[in-house]
Amino acid sequence: MFFYSTRDKNNHKSVSAAILQGLAEDGGLFVPEYFPQINIADLDSKLSYPEFAAKILADYFKGDQLESQLPDICRNAFNFPLPVRELNANTYIMELFQGPTLSFKDFGARFLAECMTRLSKERKTTIIVATSGDTGSAVAGAFYQKPNIEVVVMFPKGQISKRQEQQITCWGENILSVAVNGTFDDCQKIVKQAFSDEWFTSRAHLSSANSINIARLLPQLTYYAYTSWQFFLKHGEKAGYIIPTGNVGNSTAAFWAKAMGFPIREISLATNANRVISDYLDNGKFEPRKSIATIANAMDVGNPSNFERLSYLYNTPETFRANVKAFSVSDEEIREIITEVNQKFNYVVCPHTATGYFARKKLDDKPWIIAATADPCKFETIIEPIIGNILPVAPQLQTLLDKPVKLVETDADIRQVAAALANK
Ligand SMILES: *Cc1c(COP(=O)(O)O)cnc(C)c1O
Repeated sequence: MFFYSTRDKNNHKSVSAAILQGLAEDGGLFVPEYFPQINIADLDSKLSYPEFAAKILADYFKGDQLESQLPDICRNAFNFPLPVRELNANTYIMELFQGPTLSFKDFGARFLAECMTRLSKERKTTIIVATSGDTGSAVAGAFYQKPNIEVVVMFPKGQISKRQEQQITCWGENILSVAVNGTFDDCQKIVKQAFSDEWFTSRAHLSSANSINIARLLPQLTYYAYTSWQFFLKHGEKAGYIIPTGNVGNSTAAFWAKAMGFPIREISLATNANRVISDYLDNGKFEPRKSIATIANAMDVGNPSNFERLSYLYNTPETFRANVKAFSVSDEEIREIITEVNQKFNYVVCPHTATGYFARKKLDDKPWIIAATADPCKFETIIEPIIGNILPVAPQLQTLLDKPVKLVETDADIRQVAAALANK
C-alpha cells in the first residue's frame, strides 16, 4: 500500500515515510491509494478493540517496516475504554474521551507516538507542536518518556484554560512546555519556521504531530469502524454519525471508515460559529478566513487543514453535498443544549459535543451516534455556571493536576525557543 499526496498522484510513499514526513513536499496531504474493502461478515465478533483495529488497518501497513508491529502498536495505543451510551432509542453518545488526557486526540496521539518511537530507534526525533488546547496535552502525554524523542509543545500564554495548561505543563523530562507571549498563530508560525531553520533541522530529525499526520488519521477511523459494526450486530441497522468538527481530521476518518464498507448510514458535521464548511455547502466556494473565538474553542478553525483530504474524496461540490451535511451552532445555542441535555438525560456534554446534539435535533428519527470529543470536566469554567453544579474531576485529570508544573516562557521568537530547548 502506498500513500499519495492529494496534489500529485506520482508522489507516493510507504506509510512509515508518510508518517515521518507529515506533510508531502508539494504541500499536499497523504491519502491512501485505495480503501481496503472489509466484509463485516468475515469479522469475529469476539475481537477486542485493539485486535479489531490491527486487523482493519493491516492493509494500510502492508509491505511497510511497521507491518509486523501493528498489533503491538494498537495494543499499546488503545488501552482505554470506548463506551457508547444510549440517550434515547435513536440517539447515542460515543465517548471518545476516556483516554489519559480526556479527549479523542488520545487515540491519534498515542498511535502516532507508538509508530514514531519505533521509527526513531536509529536517529533522534524532535517533535514540535503548537496547541490551543487538547492536542498539546494528548501529544505530551503520548510521547512522555519515549526514548530518542523530544517534544516541544508551544501554547499562547494566558489564552488557554487553567486545566488545559496544567495538562500540558505537568510532564518534564523529554517534554519541553513553552508558554509563548503571543497568539496561537504566533506559535504555529514558529513551528513552520523550525522546518527551514538550520539549528532545528540539523539537531535531529524534525517532525510535527498535528492532525495532518496520517498516523493521527488512521487510528481515528477505527472507532467509527468498530462502533458501527457493533451497532449493526446489535440492532440490525446502520447508524449515522454526527461529528463536532474543526480541522476536519476526526470527520475525515469517519468518511474513510464508510469508504471501507463499514455500516455507516450517513455522516453529519457540526461546527461552532466558524462556518467555512456550511458556507461551502451553501455556495460551493471554499473560503478560508480568520477564526472566530467561541466557547467550543478546540473547534475555532477558519481554515480547516484536513478539508483537502475530504474534498479529495468528494471532489466536486455536488458529490461533496451529496455525502456531507453540516450544521453551524452559535455559543448561545451551545449553552442551551448543555442545559437541555443535562435536564432531559442527566448527562453533561462538553461545549464541542453540544454542537453535535444540536445537529441531532435537526435530523431525522433514524439512529444517530454523536461523537463526544472531550470530557466536560476539562471545561468546568464554562459548564459549571450553566448547569449550576460542580463537575466531578475525572481520575486521569486529577493525577495530572497533582503534578508540579515545568514550563519556560519565551517571546514569539524562534531563537528563544531554540535556546530553551538547548538548555533543557
Ligand atoms: C480537536 C477537537 C475537535 C475538532 O476535531 P477536528 O479533527 O479538528 O475536526 C473537536 N472537539 C474537541 C474536544 C477537540 O479537541
